[in-house]
Amino acid sequence: MKPFVFSADSHVREPNSLFYDALPASLRPHAVRAVKEGDAIVTRNDHKVIFKLRLGANPDFGGVTRLGIHDLAGRLIDMEKDGIDAEIAFPSLGLWLYAIDDPEAELGQCEVYNNWNDQYFSGHLNRFVRCGVLPVRNLEHTQQEMRRIAAKGFTAAMLPSITPAGIPKYNDPAWDPVFALAGELGLVFVLHTGTGAETVIAERGPGAAVINYSLQMNDGINAIMYMVSSGLLDRNPKTQIAVIECGASWLAALAERMDEVYVAHDIFVRPKLSMMPSEIIKRQVTVSFQHDRACIMARSVTGTRALMWASDYPHAEGTFPRSKSVIAGLFEGIDITEQEKVDILGGNAARLFRFAIPVQHPETVAA
Ligand code: MN
Repeated sequence: MKPFVFSADSHVREPNSLFYDALPASLRPHAVRAVKEGDAIVTRNDHKVIFKLRLGANPDFGGVTRLGIHDLAGRLIDMEKDGIDAEIAFPSLGLWLYAIDDPEAELGQCEVYNNWNDQYFSGHLNRFVRCGVLPVRNLEHTQQEMRRIAAKGFTAAMLPSITPAGIPKYNDPAWDPVFALAGELGLVFVLHTGTGAETVIAERGPGAAVINYSLQMNDGINAIMYMVSSGLLDRNPKTQIAVIECGASWLAALAERMDEVYVAHDIFVRPKLSMMPSEIIKRQVTVSFQHDRACIMARSVTGTRALMWASDYPHAEGTFPRSKSVIAGLFEGIDITEQEKVDILGGNAARLFRFAIPVQHPETVAA
């Protein structure tokens, strides 16, 4: 029987004028939108250019012409073709909201996105997990928006994977009330790679394409390192973190490295934690991956619970339309039980995001 497959990383494309049309006139100059300039797509507001993607000879790079990027009916067709039963979907334009410096404009655009997302997927909650975007320029706004979307039934919400300049870093106790509230509301914090970064283009010289995407692993490594070592996750044990599109096998390496120094440098270690860093990771951290088989081999360190497969539809680095063959090769040569396989392909994500697994997949439900 085909296992239940949940993609823990995919993207929707908001209408280009979503933010501009919905914001009050006073905040419109901050509205994020994309404009075509020559062979490039420029994401910007009136104040700054946020991201420039040169398409050159490949106008379909990044899946911008895929059936399902704008259109939900088309998306369901592509999911069928690719063998994906359910997804959590992240934004496109909304990935750049952390570039907005003005706290009111940031809050306004997060509200607009979250309302749009809620409406877009309503009626299809048997296939999609809704994920909000949270403002971070004012942590009171963060909590206000968390309460608002949790009341709508959201189980996931994004925080930046890199804290932008001027925002408390993830080892700062200023985050405690926010993390405590997430545990209370059952809202999983999603850290998608590249979010909060001033630029995802760190290098333009030889190797740049491989360097820039590989470097994005560091977003996840740094965020989890800061949250675990500072005691932020230890003090808020019900808070769950999902790191998306940073790969996954680094999590085992990070857990072992932090355990090592936690003991070896114990005279310098502040604060003391109630358990080892690797145990906090096992309890509270989940990671998504497309091709990273090493994370499956290292699962005794992180726990199988930490691993979620994802397609990253419709992006160029994603697995569409080859997800079935990618999944078929995922566990090849690895000693693993059938139960662990169904957990990695869908069960772990469904339980994390409190998504009801369809009854025709009893083997996934059972775990
Ligand atoms: Mn992605």
